[in-house]
Formats: sequence, structure tokens, C-alpha cells
Amino acid sequence: MLKTARYKAFVDYFSTHQPNPVTELHYNSPFELLVAVILSAQCTDKRINQITPALFERFPTPESLAASTPEEVYNYIKSVSYPNNKAKHLVGMAKILVSEFNSVVPQGIEDLQKMPGVGRKTANVISSVVYQEPAIAVDTHVFRVSNRLGLANKAKTPLATEMQLMKYLPKELLGVAHHWLILHGRYICVARTPKCEICPLTNFCKYFEQTNPEAILRKKELLKATKIRNREAFDQLREISNIIDKIT
Ligand code: SF4
Repeated sequence: MLKTARYKAFVDYFSTHQPNPVTELHYNSPFELLVAVILSAQCTDKRINQITPALFERFPTPESLAASTPEEVYNYIKSVSYPNNKAKHLVGMAKILVSEFNSVVPQGIEDLQKMPGVGRKTANVISSVVYQEPAIAVDTHVFRVSNRLGLANKAKTPLATEMQLMKYLPKELLGVAHHWLILHGRYICVARTPKCEICPLTNFCKYFEQTNPEAILRKKELLKATKIRNREAFDQLREISNIIDKIT
């Protein structure tokens, strides 16, 4: 299957069945989303949603977080992964947000990445969700599902995956495609054993094509049928050519 056909099938399916996906993180402002996304690295959204209400109540603004200490923040986030590092990142991020950006979450990827704890993935989420910029964040789910589906071809890094998705997806769909891929990876195309038996994308999934015995057989039969058709067409052409030779 051609890559463009895979993209078309992907967009067609999700546009119809999941036209308005949203992030599962709870937040009420760009600042809260930034905090939640920093916390969500290597952790589940469910866990983050459990701890952010108390965190946001104690630190409702960049100023209040900037005036705190990693030790205090740690107490609010100790049940998430890597709490020590994340506590330092949050306070450092808030200090830069206040001092360099007037407490407004910046829009540009480069500006966002000036803050501790904000890598390319987090910057792309903010840029896309808050400012509707044409960006797509590649996390572990997006990376895995894009490669399995064949939307990304032998992409070895998140950046390589991002570049291929950016090339083939319409700009206006980058934001929703990010959610489509994350949600599909979280609930169906899971890391260890993808749930292909209940997946609605088997008819265009490259991984399924290459691993499912029936799909492999179907592909072989299709190839065989194509070869036979080509052979028949060739024989007909040769026959016509012989007739033309005889009458000229
Ligand atoms: S068919 Fe299987 S590998 Fe392909 S997207 Fe669905 S769950 Fe993932």
C-alpha cells in the first residue's frame, strides 16, 4: 500500500469516528497545561490528574510557583515519576516564565524550550494545543503507533517521526492527529502486545500486514494475481504485435 493511501485511510477513519479528540490532562489555563505536561513525562495522565488539583490550588500562578522551592513542590508531586527532577524543573520553569516572558506562556518552540523540563515534545504540545500552531508532538505512543501503521517509515527517532508526519498530514489536522495517535496507542495499539484483534485499522496497518498470517497470505495471492494479469496482458500485446507484423 502506498504511504499516501495509508495517510488517507488514517485521516478518513479518525475524522469520521473521533472528529474532536482532546487531551486527557485536566487544566484551566496555558500555565496549568504547561505544568501538567511537564509532570506527565514518563507518567500516566490519570496519575497527573490526581495530584494537580492540590498543586494548582497552592500554586495558582507562575509567580507563586517561582517563589516556592523544589522541596515544597516535591510534597505535592511525590507520587509521580521522577519527583525530585520535576520539582526542580517546575520551579525553574516558573522563574523563567516570570522573568523572561512576563508570566505569559510563550508561543514559539525555541522560547518554550528555554525553560527547564520543556523539551521539543512538550513545546509542541503547548504550541499546538494553546496556540493552534501547526505542530505535532511525538511521545512514546505517537512514535510507536506511527511506525506500526506505516505513517512513519523506518523512523528511528521522535524527530524523524515528527518530520514524516509533518510532511504528509494536512497542517490543519496535525493537532488532532496527535491526539488520535496517543489515544489509539494508549488503549488499543499498546506497547507490548497490540490489540490487533479489536483494532479497526487492520486494513491499512503495515505491522498487521507483516505479522498476521492471513494478511500475508492475502498479499501473496494479490501479488500472484497481479503477475498473472501482467503475463496475460503481455501475451495479448505480443499476439497483436505478431498480427501487425503479418499484415504489414
Ligand atoms: S492493527 Fe495492531 S499494530 Fe496495527 S494499529 Fe491496530 S493494534 Fe496497532
